[in-house]
Amino acid sequence: MLQRMPGATEQDDELWERVNHLAQTVKPSELLELESETLLHRLFHEETVRLFDAEEVAFQCSCSAERTLGALESIGKDECYSILEEQGAIEMDCQFCHAHYRFDRNDIDHLFAGHTLH
Ligand SMILES: [Zn+2]
Repeated sequence: MLQRMPGATEQDDELWERVNHLAQTVKPSELLELESETLLHRLFHEETVRLFDAEEVAFQCSCSAERTLGALESIGKDECYSILEEQGAIEMDCQFCHAHYRFDRNDIDHLFAGHTLH
């Protein structure tokens, strides 16, 4: 997979086309058998190639109670209090890591305490 990085200029268009064209010349067997360094050199030896160190991929969710409260804040005070009226608390599950967050009236009071002027 080739991915163009943000911040590319118009002058990069030509290079991008050339790189794509070169990438299309790769054979499936080469992708399987060659070390990435060898492969990159074979394909793009006329370009300047910078290979970054491999990094291990790990799933890490960036959710937190603060972020979840931020989402509630954007829903708005009225909506939050109407959920509190109906359910007694606001419960939210992160759809990515399934972390569970629960906020009671105190939390919501606290969240909107600084917003009384609005
Ligand atoms: Zn999460």
